[in-house]
Amino acid sequence: MSAADPLDRERMRRHNLGLVLRAVAEGDRPSRTDIALATSLHKTTVSSLVADLIDRELVREAGIAPDGTVGRPAVALELSGERYVAMGLEINVDHLVYRVVDLHGRVREQGSVRQDNRARPPSETLAALAELIVEPRLRIAQAGSVLVGATLALPGLVDPSRGLLLVAPHLGWRDVAVVDELRAALDTPDVHLRIENEANLAALAERWHGAGQTHEDFVYVSGYIGVGAGIVSNGDLHRGETGFGGEFGHLTLEANGPPCVCGGNGCVETLAGLDALLRLAGMGSSRQSRVDEVVDAAERGETRAVEAIETVGTLLGVGLASTANLLGSRAIVLGGYFAELYPWLRTPIEAQLRQRVLAFPWSPIEVLRSELRDGAAVSGAAGLALRAILDNPASAPASTTEPEDEEPATAVEGAVEADVALR
Ligand SMILES: [Zn+2]
Repeated sequence: MSAADPLDRERMRRHNLGLVLRAVAEGDRPSRTDIALATSLHKTTVSSLVADLIDRELVREAGIAPDGTVGRPAVALELSGERYVAMGLEINVDHLVYRVVDLHGRVREQGSVRQDNRARPPSETLAALAELIVEPRLRIAQAGSVLVGATLALPGLVDPSRGLLLVAPHLGWRDVAVVDELRAALDTPDVHLRIENEANLAALAERWHGAGQTHEDFVYVSGYIGVGAGIVSNGDLHRGETGFGGEFGHLTLEANGPPCVCGGNGCVETLAGLDALLRLAGMGSSRQSRVDEVVDAAERGETRAVEAIETVGTLLGVGLASTANLLGSRAIVLGGYFAELYPWLRTPIEAQLRQRVLAFPWSPIEVLRSELRDGAAVSGAAGLALRAILDNPASAPASTTEPEDEEPATAVEGAVEADVALR
């Protein structure tokens, strides 16, 4: 036996622990036998791994399995999940949001503040976000839960591996070491933090719990101040080798069109984004409340508003048809204010897809409305942080030790101190 064997065995066990946990998460209250079948692992191995997962309070026994046969009924397993929570965070132009979600997907709590983040330096905004989550972190600790991590959704190009925001034109941010700054503001070095583009997170959330659940391949497009997008391919995010793929908002519709914040011309965002919509609808400045006015006017049947939305729909449809020709997507999911405009956008978008996508007659493309709406990005952010546990259950502490002796997954003491300091 070589010296590397115990390490290999440990690595294999950790890998199998993840396989079994995901089989429980994805199954319908499976028995140990069901899991052995689903994972091709030996039943004895499965029993040992399940015992480990029960010990870590990730899985629990839950009565008789649905297909338990007569004779010796099989015990059903389900995710336990209450002990482990993750935090989804979001910074956008005019708000900060947090949401605490447990492994069951239940929202424990959420909150937000409205503030104009364009008017202040990134460090101030990150400090405000850190302050917003002081109390929630304290409540997580008081409930005996473990914060496994937090993901921050940002409206721009991000490099998650370096924790760096490269550029967020609408926030006016460039080259910000977001993860380092937020960690410093939180005063806790051991919270697992990561950042991700907000539309990518929203696309993942729609894939996991929303309009994209039945689709392996779809394009999520959301209108907010800019136009964001996330491409889901084979059930996961498509980023391309650079990691920056999916920037549908900066697809060129008109080579010599009006200038865009990205430095290009005639992008989807400049021709079919919020400013363009409001201008076409005759409603001036770029305020989110104005979208409600456009919706109200369209509901009253006012021609100018309806025609403005239809023009935006046609332009989006032209861009989406090019995208669908390239990617072979089966569905488009409209989020942000595009979801509010869905009743009027759907028909012109479908008309362009029908006309321009070569394969459309054989493989029609569904135009769907976001189910998660404004909560999509923050839900995806929490979901991504929870994935860390599903991918590597061994990172969850076993409960054989007393709570005081546990490896702290979050600096509970830091949260308490911060809270006391605020009072
Ligand atoms: Zn652009």
